[in-house]
Amino acid sequence: MKISILVFGSQNFFATLPHQMLDAKDFSIEVIRDINQAISLISIAPPDVILAQTSMNGSMELCRWLKSQTQLSWIYCILLEDRLQQLAARNQHNWEWELEITATALRQGADAYIWQLSEAKTDSTFTKITAHHDLLLAQLMVGVRKAQKYRDLQQTNDLLSAIALADSLTDMNNRRALEWELSRKIIQARIEKTPLSLIILDVDYFKKVNDTYGHLIGDRLLQLLCNRLRHNLRFEDTPFRYGGEEFVVVLPNTNGEEALLVAKRLNRIIGEEPFKINSKLAINITISLGAASLQAQDDVHGLNLLYRADQHLLQAKAAGRNQAVGCDYSASVSHIKAVSS
Ligand code: GH3
Ligand code: MG
Ligand code: MG
Repeated sequence: MKISILVFGSQNFFATLPHQMLDAKDFSIEVIRDINQAISLISIAPPDVILAQTSMNGSMELCRWLKSQTQLSWIYCILLEDRLQQLAARNQHNWEWELEITATALRQGADAYIWQLSEAKTDSTFTKITAHHDLLLAQLMVGVRKAQKYRDLQQTNDLLSAIALADSLTDMNNRRALEWELSRKIIQARIEKTPLSLIILDVDYFKKVNDTYGHLIGDRLLQLLCNRLRHNLRFEDTPFRYGGEEFVVVLPNTNGEEALLVAKRLNRIIGEEPFKINSKLAINITISLGAASLQAQDDVHGLNLLYRADQHLLQAKAAGRNQAVGCDYSASVSHIKAVSS
């Protein structure tokens, strides 16, 4: 993999960098002198290392900005001090000052601060330049090692989050994922002023399936049920395994009436065709569903919303199962009729 370096500086400065960097096929280098351009490039495609020319306007700001970004602060930032001649001419350059300015740069966010030597033709300076280039290349390698380590860690983190948020039996998002996702969807719906609904569904008499065919068949049935649910939802509607044989579907951009229609459709597609466990066994099941939609006074975690959907699910169960109850007027009337009859 190529090592990506962002050089924040002029083309002249770029030309003074070690030839190994300029020639090598291992490096992909971008040279930028505008801080806003640099910031947008770093945000879109974070490089492994940033090399900044100290005399370039904004180099220290870039360093400070980088270290204030939680997602980007791992990028190794090397500041190359190229004002040596200017400072020497003004008699400002002495060791004390050099130590002080280095300490300040490190404090402000640079990971390394290197003094660049001016080009000169004498042999002794040539040796110094080679040593200086060696130091710069070594610092680059430190940055690359750090970037590699960070990227490996990020990959492991992604894998662990996927494991933590998935249900091991059905591969569906689990309850923890729902807790995480529901608040995000509520916030988003409120910002965008769009409706949001939710369905809770529960398999009817599932205990009977386990008691009749055993738990392994019950497990297989849950997997097949999840597949059927997944294939009958819009891309933006997310299903979650809420508990044993209970599932939640979050429906963005959907009002209560529409959610009830979705619930009725799911009720039909689960009940209308048996689940083929193997060549000899197919099982019919039905589900009961409760739908609810977000109200202005609901809490941001979605507890009120879940509660209302659950109440509707209980009503569906109490009314004889294999049906959907939502918050629209006709559903309430039909439910009240079912309960009182
Ligand atoms: P109801 O119509 O009232 O929902 O009846 P039910 O039998 O579905 O409800 P109940 O709560 O009495 O039983 C749910 C059953 O689901 C009991 C439990 O063993 C089973 N179950 C929960 N999780 C799993 C699972 O992962 N695999 C299997 N095989 N069974 C499970
Ligand atoms: Mg059940
Ligand atoms: Mg249940």
